[in-house]
Amino acid sequence: MNEKNAPASQILFVANRLPVTIHLDGEQFQFTPSIGGLATGLKSYTEEQNATWLGWPGLASDDLTSSQIKQLDQELLEKYRCHTVHLQSDEMELFYHGFSNSTLWPLFHYFSNLTQYQSGHWEAYQAVNERFLDKLAAIIQNGDTVWIHDYQLMLLPGLIRNRYPDCRIGFFLHIPFPSYELFRLIPWRSELLFGLLGSDLIGFHTYDYARHFLSSVRRILGLEHNLNFINFDHRRIKIDVFPMGIDYQRFSTAIENKEIRTEMVEMLRKTRGTQVILSVDRLDYTKGIPERLKAYALFLEQNENYKEKVTLILIVAPSRTSVDTYDGLRREIEELVSNINGSHGTMGWVPVWFFFRSFTIENLMAFYQNSDAMLVTPLRDGMNLVAKEYIASRFDKQGMLIISETAGAASELGEAILVNPNDQQQIASAIKRALEMTRLEQMERNGIMHQRLARYDVRVWARDFLDKLARHSSHDLKTDTISLDNVQQSRLIQSYDKAHKRLILLDYDGTLKPFTDKPEDAWPEEELQQLLQQLQAVEQNMIVLVSGRDRDFLERWFGQLGIALIGSHGLWIKNYGADWQMSESLDNSWKADVRPVLELYMDRTPGSLVEEKEHSLAWHYRRCEPELANIRLNELRDALISLVASLNVGILEGNKVLEVKNTMINKGRAANQFLRAEPYDFVLAAGDDVTDEDLFAILDDKAWSIKVGKQHSKARFSMPDPIAVRLLLAEMLSSHR
Ligand code: UDP
Repeated sequence: MNEKNAPASQILFVANRLPVTIHLDGEQFQFTPSIGGLATGLKSYTEEQNATWLGWPGLASDDLTSSQIKQLDQELLEKYRCHTVHLQSDEMELFYHGFSNSTLWPLFHYFSNLTQYQSGHWEAYQAVNERFLDKLAAIIQNGDTVWIHDYQLMLLPGLIRNRYPDCRIGFFLHIPFPSYELFRLIPWRSELLFGLLGSDLIGFHTYDYARHFLSSVRRILGLEHNLNFINFDHRRIKIDVFPMGIDYQRFSTAIENKEIRTEMVEMLRKTRGTQVILSVDRLDYTKGIPERLKAYALFLEQNENYKEKVTLILIVAPSRTSVDTYDGLRREIEELVSNINGSHGTMGWVPVWFFFRSFTIENLMAFYQNSDAMLVTPLRDGMNLVAKEYIASRFDKQGMLIISETAGAASELGEAILVNPNDQQQIASAIKRALEMTRLEQMERNGIMHQRLARYDVRVWARDFLDKLARHSSHDLKTDTISLDNVQQSRLIQSYDKAHKRLILLDYDGTLKPFTDKPEDAWPEEELQQLLQQLQAVEQNMIVLVSGRDRDFLERWFGQLGIALIGSHGLWIKNYGADWQMSESLDNSWKADVRPVLELYMDRTPGSLVEEKEHSLAWHYRRCEPELANIRLNELRDALISLVASLNVGILEGNKVLEVKNTMINKGRAANQFLRAEPYDFVLAAGDDVTDEDLFAILDDKAWSIKVGKQHSKARFSMPDPIAVRLLLAEMLSSHR
């Protein structure tokens, strides 16, 4: 395919590894399908779709000549629709063996003791992700869909978003996303999350992984989520669950394949007279292979009657063989196998048949179909396709799966026997139970799982993800306000220029100034003070700061600028040169009833605090652990509702604050005093908070009401942040020059 003549809108699958493994045999490249879950899973889909792959071919580029690289690239593109990103051996060491497999892989599988944190690895990870972007640049077109796979490329969505903001970007994580307690250990945790948030859609195998991700985003980046959406960077990113399926059709009809039937006959001959337990994994410490062998040994010890009556076929496919941890694991497995065979075996009976090699899928199907039980007991596994393949291959619905609850697949295979992979006694008992389960019970349990696997097979999985991605662009952030874009802004400036009397009502925190953890740190710098002062100096202008802050703060920072001030959410009003005046006369006796309730919640919620203002009481929870704060907030609301009804006060919820105050007081009522004072022909009001909604509510349709942020609002327009508001004010000012 000519890269320049690529179809108008294409799907690009991007993964670290291509769906083929390449060997250099003399001068010739040999191509064989990869054995990893992703490659196996997507293979059947990509064969039918007009999709292109981008990935690393698995060979170090410094071992190849430039003409070999050219030949390889050409063959891969022509035969497999694969584009390549080439990596040198030192990059493979740092990026692949380093950050990907010595940081992310162990940590995400809860092996924090094996996790390394090395800045050299991290730098290589960044560089290789950028290399993927550069290679993509030669293929990608605006409007294309890019589906990025797995933990080696977590920065890529963000990199693509920066360079091609209009692409549809999906990301799927094939391994677990760990709990926040683990994820927070990574020194580059924020960068990884920001990278992922470049996506429109982020998919996980299970709801737990999605939940862990949302929680990490909230706790590390402070970004809230709502119904599995995260608002970030003026986009709305969807987080969803897509449990990866298998090619059900292929496995469930394997019996029709003559070659497999022949292999089955051969297998049955060899294992005649024994029940067969099967175990199939890549060599990896996450798979719990030694623990499984120990549990099998325990089963043999406890069940003498199974002597010469059972065989464990242990298939371990070599993987990452150059790494020491894996080499040690292989030796440990070999030792355990020979111990079991030595101490339990007899002249005619070998309790464990150990194969340290990989088999073709056809071979595996023969094994699956000949096994009475399948032992899948990883300590942690993102999904585990082998478990699903076993169920699907048993067209007769016989055989029993034993699966650990820490494998993603367990959440869909509840009719199997679930075990804790660290509980050897439980596994030993599960083996006995599986081997002795009646055919009827096996059929009942397997029948239900068959239906589920048939419905959500790998084609449906891929289609489901791509359909959701096609339907959801994170740019479709819906609000009921109109974005104050360049066109609207020039209209605003025109109407400002033409006006004879202008009222400009401005909230402070979150509107003119971004939030900080401590409100006292958010003071206005000189530049902002000058901007307000100069705007006020224009003869036709009346600037009013409409804030929740108290009189002292406003006096200190804005008292000399010539502008009018409204403080404490509308309680206090001050015209320049005059004294502060209370906007309504108020009774504060309700505080004695409400204060103890808020103080109780302060004590029960670490990090929260109660602030007493002149005519209100506020419970702040910005510095609390978000999950707990949410629970407490709901409880507190409940506790206050009946109380406030009898006291003539109201509850007001702001940005990480719940405030109880007299219902007569609000920003709208206070601002109205200014609005009524003169016949203004230009009114602008800007605010970010719920308390500013009262302000918007008193304005007519001609006013320029501006919500800062993306929440629903009574305002007509929206702006993204305080920077944009200040730029607008500066532009208004410069129109006088
Ligand atoms: N597999 C294979 N030959 C082998 C061992 C495994 O083809 O000798 C395949 C197996 O059928 C499955 C995949 O490799 O489709 C392993 O996927 P799984 O999700 O179980 O584990 P992963 O290797 O992705 O951790």
